[in-house]
Amino acid sequence: MIFSKDDQNIQKLAHLLINSKNCIAFTGAGISVASGIPSFRGEDGIWSKYDPNILELSNYYSNPKLCWKFIKEIFYDNLQGIEPNKGHYALTELQKMGLLKNIYTQNIDNLHQKSGSKNVYEFHGTTNYFVCKKCMKRYSIKAIDLEDEYPKCPDCSALVKPDFIFFSEELPRKVLEVAFSDAEKADLILVIGCSGEVAPANQMPLYVKHSGGEVVEINPQPSLYSGNISSFRISGKSQDTLTKVVNAVKEIRERQDEK
Ligand code: ZN
Repeated sequence: MIFSKDDQNIQKLAHLLINSKNCIAFTGAGISVASGIPSFRGEDGIWSKYDPNILELSNYYSNPKLCWKFIKEIFYDNLQGIEPNKGHYALTELQKMGLLKNIYTQNIDNLHQKSGSKNVYEFHGTTNYFVCKKCMKRYSIKAIDLEDEYPKCPDCSALVKPDFIFFSEELPRKVLEVAFSDAEKADLILVIGCSGEVAPANQMPLYVKHSGGEVVEINPQPSLYSGNISSFRISGKSQDTLTKVVNAVKEIRERQDEK
């Protein structure tokens, strides 16, 4: 039987996972593509059809009706009924097997949590919550009337903002701190569906590497980590690759049990 390069690397990754003591995952838009989440950049990306200005913080607060109309379309109407894919579920399974600890994601789609994953840290926030800058409280999407002229605080009726990062906002400092200190302790990081272009979250694999850990990519296209930061890259689609990795881990463990 002839094994492809990807198949060999899947076996390699399965062994790394079994032998690692502290593995974390870093995920980007690529892992959600199979769920039907549209991409933002590029020719057919969201920002080729909408004015990114709707996600400028000051614009949102001064023109809430207009901004909300489009934000609702892009982040809420379009994403209704979106479900996790095999890639998300595979990570959940790795967590249950005790082989994967925290998941750090650049996605705001809530799909890791929906697939049952625990310890999910969101660099860019989530569509699933809203914040009121007046009450300084955070509300679940269920408490908000999305069909209103703009989303309002259930307590004080002020305009609330989706709890994901707008363009002029900084990343949540707490998440960054946890991420970087965790990365320094990790002996393995899986970089999944992530080109490495969005700073500062993109520094995570570098922290792992510089602290002596190993970086493995599951990316269809080469990224900024390929060839220098990552030990190897598996080029298959993340949902297929991750499913194969889980199966490979199970097979290896079964063989070990037989001995
Ligand atoms: Zn309020």
